[in-house]
Formats: sequence, C-alpha cells, structure tokens
Amino acid sequence: MFSDLVGQDEPVETLRRAAGAAARVVAGEPVASGAMTHAWIFTGPPGAGRSLAARAFAAALQCERGGSGCGECHGCHTVLGKTHADVRFVVPEGLSIGVGEMRALVLRAASAPSGGRWQVVVIEDADRLTEAAGNALLKAIEEPPPRTVFLLCTPSTHPDDISVTIRSRCRLVALRQPPADAVAAALVARDAMPSDTAAWAAAAAQGDITRARLLAADSEARSRREAVLAVPKRLTGVGACFDVAATLVAAAKAEAAASVAEPDAAERSALEQALGAGGTGRGAAGAMRGAAGQIKDLEKRQKSRATRAQRDALDRALVDLAGFYRDVLITALRAPVAVVHGDVAAQSQAAAGKWTPESTLRRLEAVLACRESINQNVKPEIAVEAMMLSLWRG
Ligand SMILES: [Zn+2]
Repeated sequence: MFSDLVGQDEPVETLRRAAGAAARVVAGEPVASGAMTHAWIFTGPPGAGRSLAARAFAAALQCERGGSGCGECHGCHTVLGKTHADVRFVVPEGLSIGVGEMRALVLRAASAPSGGRWQVVVIEDADRLTEAAGNALLKAIEEPPPRTVFLLCTPSTHPDDISVTIRSRCRLVALRQPPADAVAAALVARDAMPSDTAAWAAAAAQGDITRARLLAADSEARSRREAVLAVPKRLTGVGACFDVAATLVAAAKAEAAASVAEPDAAERSALEQALGAGGTGRGAAGAMRGAAGQIKDLEKRQKSRATRAQRDALDRALVDLAGFYRDVLITALRAPVAVVHGDVAAQSQAAAGKWTPESTLRRLEAVLACRESINQNVKPEIAVEAMMLSLWRG
C-alpha cells in the first residue's frame, strides 16, 4: 500500500509507525502517548500523492494484519475500493465543502466504528472548506471521539489553505515532489512502460505520476501540452497576446466540458427518472414545485463542478508553461539540473540566448501570478490576458 508512494521514505516511515501503534490500541495493548494521533494533515505539491498517502494510511488503520497495510486483507481491500463502512471520503465536486455536508459528516464520524477499529474521515481537498465548515470540523478535532481519525489533504499549511487553528491540532505529513527519475523508475516497474517514454513523461509531468501516465497514454493530453508549449513563440505582438489568451482559455473550457459531460447527463437523467414517478393526482402541483427546485439544485452543483474542472484544466496548462520558463532560466544560468520539457529544449535554449535572466524570471513570475489570480477568483480571461502581455514584454 505504502509502496505506491514514490520517493517519500520519511513520511511513509511516520505513517507505518502510527498505524502500528493504532493496531496495538485496537488490540488493547499499551502505547506511548502521542504514538497515534487523531488528526492529520497531508501536504505536498500536485502529484506528490497526498490523497494516496491518506488512503494508504486509512487502509493501514483498518488492516487486519497488525496495521501493516498489507493491501490483501478484507480491511485494506474495502478501503481501497471506497466501500469500507468506517471510512468516509469527502471529495468536493464544486469549489467548496459546505457546512451542511461537514456537520453531517462530523455527526456520523462520532459513532463507534462498526468494524471495531477506527472511524476514518478523509477530506481530500481540505483547502476547499468554507469557513463555517472549517469551524464545524474544528470542534470535532478539538474533542475527538476515542476511535475517530481525521485525515486532511491540502496543498500546504498556508492559512489560505487551512486555518491556523485546525493546523495547530493536527500532525503534519509533508510529502515532497518526487524526483523525476524515481517516478520514471516506478512507471517502468509497475506499468511496464518503455524506459525512454517513462523518462520523458516523468520529466514533462514534473513528478506528478498520474499526469505522467496520462501523457504517456493519451494523445489528446499530449497535443494539449504541445499547444501550451507553443505559446511563448506565438507571442509576437499585442494582438497575438489576446488571440493566444483566448485560445488557451477556450482549450481549458473545452477540456473541462468534455470531462463533465458524461456525469452531468447521467445525474440529470437519474433525477428526471426519480421525479417522473410523481404522477398527476392530488399533490402533483406541489410535487412539481419540489421537482423544479431539485433540478435547479442539480444545475447549480453541476455549474460549480464545471467551473472547477475548467480552473483545474487551466492550472495544468499554466504549470506546463511555468516549466518552460524555468527551463529557460536554468539553461541561461547553466544550473546543474535537468530540464522539464526536454522535447522543446531547442526552444528554451534559443530563448535563454535572447532574454536576460531577469526578464525570464519576470515571465516565470507572471505565470505564477496568473495561477494565484485565478485561485483568487479573478476571471480566467482577464488573468490570462494580463499574463500574456507580461510574457510578451518580458
Ligand atoms: Zn491489510
């Protein structure tokens, strides 16, 4: 289970020890105070394996073989399949996790574990908790029921991601970005990927193993990446900046729309079917009004999910773009580290010869500022246009 976490030896050791202590607690054996903790925060950059680590730990807590997380027993299997009765996963579909959802969760988490081990709540995007939801969670973390464990995943412990009070009550597992060669080795060993493809995909995905797998397997993902890496050379004037910005945002929208189309349609038809059983007898008018409300709710949730998918798609593009300017910078400075986008090395070398390191750094900062703006709800079109102009001017 833990072996799926690439290049994270130290955090894995911490989690193994805690899971061992948790197993001794379940067995009624004495453990040192602090050996097991009720609230954890998993941090790390995208692809470092935050939710993977939380899931592996949840499985180890339910593992029937001494908390080893064997990956083979019934406990481990059901956690992995997300069907374990005592492990709940909170994955926000929209932009935030609301207080209603959190209160219901905290209430259920307070009950005794049905399997006799632990009640585990995994919150996969704890940075999307609303303030009220965070407060509801904080209360539960402050006075945890004896067998309840909260596992929170968030990019960092910055106050924008998680409140200082919640942070202060949790034990921290800081995952790092795994080195590209470790990711490549894992792709060769586990996916039987040819080593040259694995090396290229691991570097291009900047250590994110899920994205590396996608880049290796999906030609559409590869052409989207190529289009993003072609952005710098297309910026030849103000008009081009606006054109390229519009194309980039449109591509993110199209990618997002494709990813939500199927679940949207399935949810809508399931709801319509459920409502269609209403009939036309007495009370039908009231039922109709209720139905309209439910459809509106669904549309609202779907819109929120679409917005999030769009932002995620745009963010992936910006990470690729930032990688390019980083490559230009390390090439100009002759830094002894490998480039991210080896396949466009000629382009980053040419740029390194043309731009000063200072202007490259300003470009890199413009990409990071754009990510930040979008994160803070600036309209993507506006943030991306401003970025393109900065990238062109340098
Ligand atoms: Zn097991």
